Amino acid sequence: MHELRKDILLGRWVEVMSESKEPSEYRLPIAEAANEKNCALCAGREAETPHEIISIRRQGTQPNKSGWWVRAIPSFAPLFKVEGNLERRGVGLYDRMNSIGANEILIESPEHAVKPEDMGIEQMVRVIRLYRDRIMDLNKDLRLRYILISRSSIIDTLMTISHPVSSLVATPVIPKKIKDELENAKQYYDYKERCIFCDILREELKVGDRIILETRNFLCFCPYASSFPFESWIIPKKHSCDFQEISQEEIEDMGFVLMSVLKKFRAVFQGEVPLSYFLHTAPNRVPRRNHWYTLGDDYHWHLEIVPRLVKRSGFELGSGLFILTTSPEKAANFLREVG
Ligand SMILES: [Zn+2]
Ligand SMILES: [Zn+2]
Ligand SMILES: [Zn+2]
Repeated sequence: MHELRKDILLGRWVEVMSESKEPSEYRLPIAEAANEKNCALCAGREAETPHEIISIRRQGTQPNKSGWWVRAIPSFAPLFKVEGNLERRGVGLYDRMNSIGANEILIESPEHAVKPEDMGIEQMVRVIRLYRDRIMDLNKDLRLRYILISRSSIIDTLMTISHPVSSLVATPVIPKKIKDELENAKQYYDYKERCIFCDILREELKVGDRIILETRNFLCFCPYASSFPFESWIIPKKHSCDFQEISQEEIEDMGFVLMSVLKKFRAVFQGEVPLSYFLHTAPNRVPRRNHWYTLGDDYHWHLEIVPRLVKRSGFELGSGLFILTTSPEKAANFLREVG
């Protein structure tokens, strides 16, 4: 079993894989991604995948058979496993626990080569519904503290699947990046009694020059102090801390916004650009209800899109002070103006 270890200096957890790679394995080129011929995630090869957890499929078709539009299955090599106990304990000075959690593959289409921006709004709506349904379901497991859904182009070291998929990882701890957001949002709320995200929304709507796209329910913009050039956020205008409370109308609107922005990226960079996006929503707060008493008011879910354009310099790695080689205003302008 993999192990979670806490960095007591930085207050973050890391996952240590049970089977360690040899130095030589890092020198090898990234494993060839499965092509269409040997892809077990394509329609018609359901028998070769772990049993599906849930699917959205044509009426009258059977689970684990063809006829599905989107499917959630357990990961082939899960980072976190559902079975077992956490066994939190100290090891000398340090803290560790078993990597209990969940790791699922959310298959976005029966078609192998389709990109999210090209799958059509109906299919994108099913993908977002699958996100919502999986978060709702896993939130019932009181051992799980956080559920993160993300999507990456093939360049990712953990991504060796070329079929269109999102990844879901549910962890027994709140990851550091989320924790920082939660704590800063809470501090801001304690001081101002307003949601920091709602304030950012108002400010961006007022200033306007970092806006990429605005619809009835969503704003898409480049954050004022982004971590990466061309970083873009999609945020609901209505205050809500839990993504899973999204309405049907908002799902359709979000699908439209996400597809539009991805198309804009393709147009601005004149071709496909490697990118990741991930959903930041509230943690599962059932286990420590009192701990989160203002969370419903102080946190606001959003989707962050990060194009993978740059490698970090030594200075950036050492300092955590990131350098933006395109200003958020210029980036938003490129994305806004392109068709
Ligand atoms: Zn495939
Ligand atoms: Zn808000
Ligand atoms: Zn965030």
